[in-house]
Amino acid sequence: MAKRYRQYSQYLKDIFNCKVYKVTLDAGFGCPNRDGAISKGGCIFCEDGGSFSQAHSSSLSISEQLNTSIIKLKDRFGAEKFISYFQAYSNTYASVEKLKACYDEAVSHPDIVGLSIGTRPDCVDEEKIKLINSYAFCHCERSEAIQNYRREIWIEYGLQSIHDKTLKLINRGHTSADFIKAIELTRKFGKNIKICAHVIIGLPGETKQEMLQTAKVLAALNIDGIKIHLLCALKDTELENMYHRKEFIPLSEEDYVDTVCDYLEILPPETVIHRLAGNGLKKMLVAPKWLPEKFRVLNLIDRELERRDTFQGSRKGD
Ligand code: SF4
Repeated sequence: MAKRYRQYSQYLKDIFNCKVYKVTLDAGFGCPNRDGAISKGGCIFCEDGGSFSQAHSSSLSISEQLNTSIIKLKDRFGAEKFISYFQAYSNTYASVEKLKACYDEAVSHPDIVGLSIGTRPDCVDEEKIKLINSYAFCHCERSEAIQNYRREIWIEYGLQSIHDKTLKLINRGHTSADFIKAIELTRKFGKNIKICAHVIIGLPGETKQEMLQTAKVLAALNIDGIKIHLLCALKDTELENMYHRKEFIPLSEEDYVDTVCDYLEILPPETVIHRLAGNGLKKMLVAPKWLPEKFRVLNLIDRELERRDTFQGSRKGD
């Protein structure tokens, strides 16, 4: 069944005409919201691995991580091409020299066709954006057939919410103005970079209208991509304490699906939907318990859009 939203996997298939998978890499970058530069506590939902991290192994070199993952993904899913994805912590939080060395290694494998870098909006500057932008073009001498080609370059900014009162409550350590500034900087100095925003649905203290306000701002910004997360409490986080004190009430599956569908209707049809549900860290999960059912949630989202007979972008401009 064709999706009623612009799914990332299909978007990649349309560009590369084959199965493209992301390879998650961990270069051991830190985060200013954990090392004391901004705060020591981190975001209230962040576990030790650095926010929604799942499969990192920073003890291995980047090339080793690439080689191991690529073999597995080819074998298990028939993937043919790959995008190097720096996910854990803040992957622009280092000197330009160090970043260049890591990114160079990340695009060194012949099957890599893109680079995706997750970071905080307050961890970029002109020089770093220009560096990331420079990876868009590749001159390849390994093959006679391919001389020059374009890489898919994304920067993924953790926004979570457009509301400063929420950003303060969850201890993000940056404001919505920092996010807007990062977008402007990226568009000015990184013309070949696509921007993905990470948002969280179900943040404490936010009404549904406030959650959808974030979608409206992102729609007005014509954001290139979005990753939607459900807020979940993991063990040993401040959010777990809030959950036990009943200061955080997780969304029900039904409310999550309903809000995601509203979100999709508000976003422009061109925005690439990188993620709507994840498998979560089952061992670390405290609440809600339904989170690990990724494919069930995706099916429910499909069915709800079908029931409404709406699509991504149906309500653009509302
Ligand atoms: S910015 Fe990311 S890595 Fe840093 S504390 Fe927040 S969620 Fe964790």
